[in-house]
Amino acid sequence: MSKSSQMAEGLDDPDAAAFWRAAAEGRLVYSQCTACEAKWFPLRGVCSACGSDCAERQSSGRGEVYTWSRVHRSGETGFAQQVPYVVGMIALDDGFRIMANIEPVAAVEIGRRCHVTFRASPATGKPAPLFILDEA
Ligand SMILES: [Zn+2]
Repeated sequence: MSKSSQMAEGLDDPDAAAFWRAAAEGRLVYSQCTACEAKWFPLRGVCSACGSDCAERQSSGRGEVYTWSRVHRSGETGFAQQVPYVVGMIALDDGFRIMANIEPVAAVEIGRRCHVTFRASPATGKPAPLFILDEA
């Protein structure tokens, strides 16, 4: 098993496990430093800016498309049947960015408003964040 798939399943990383537990409940979470208030994603226990402890925060799940790419060919397990799909970076209103799939594929543009939902990942079967574009 690759390191990235172990991370995705949270097998050896307590912060990733916390993320997937929240996702299973339909919640998108991030970390915020209890001292300098810096926001981090993926989750982490210690602030990379000042070394203080971080706390888990729940995101509104609302943001905008920061950048994106349409995938026409995929060798990733479970994703080959999904093409074409869009993978993008979403800038959340809460002040962090996350990489996720965005739909509907044909309408994705930089700056479009979107919101999170959760759908079973074709790779793991576990609920994973998916961003849906708001009505134009
Ligand atoms: Zn800090």
